[in-house]
Amino acid sequence: MRALLLSDIHANLEALDAVIDDANVRGGFDVVWCLGDTVGYGPDPGACISRIRGYQLVAVAGNHDHAAVGKINYDNFNGAAKATTVWTAGQLTEGETDFLGGLPTVVLQESFTLVHGSLRDPLVEYLLDQGSAKATMALLQSRYCLVGHSHFPFLCRENGGSPVFDEFTEGATFHLEEERWIINPGCVGQPRDRDPRSSYGIFDSEALTIERHRVEYDIEGTQEKMRRAGLPEYLIDRLNRGV
Ligand code: ZN
Repeated sequence: MRALLLSDIHANLEALDAVIDDANVRGGFDVVWCLGDTVGYGPDPGACISRIRGYQLVAVAGNHDHAAVGKINYDNFNGAAKATTVWTAGQLTEGETDFLGGLPTVVLQESFTLVHGSLRDPLVEYLLDQGSAKATMALLQSRYCLVGHSHFPFLCRENGGSPVFDEFTEGATFHLEEERWIINPGCVGQPRDRDPRSSYGIFDSEALTIERHRVEYDIEGTQEKMRRAGLPEYLIDRLNRGV
């Protein structure tokens, strides 16, 4: 079984389709594992939901998903995020709203736990340092944990009691070991690691491997749609820079 690992699609259909095409060229996949924030920021929330629902899908909610359907309070979002949340909410059909609202925050799948932020605070906490990694390792009931939310790809090994962050190198194949890992496959729709290309992962359950790839997409196409939708210029501009 091969799982396509997607996080933070953020309603960017051009990016999502480029990732799916690239994954198909690299041997394809049987199931999509989605780590949340399918909507928010971008211009195609409904089309992105339909696209991932077209595959066998295991998905968790992100903060933007639950904010868009009024399930969590988004007073602490910045101005641009607030504006796109209101815009997104106005675009969703009843079926899409029900889908997002019904997403769980944590899912166990094979030897993985899927969560958007962290196990300590599934929708809110950014898992980016030793403290947050330690807290999630302590709560982890499977061998591996997949997270998104920060838009930064990484591998984090348990290493006794002190988690160690490693680069999740693009194009490299990592064999899953006995040691517990927290893995972030990077971001599909709004990368923030100074590389504007979409990032995603593939897990192969027979080979017990995980790999990460990046792919260019039609950034201008997405930006043009965002402009037409009246989405904030700040969000349009950052796609070029990958920040
Ligand atoms: Zn996000």
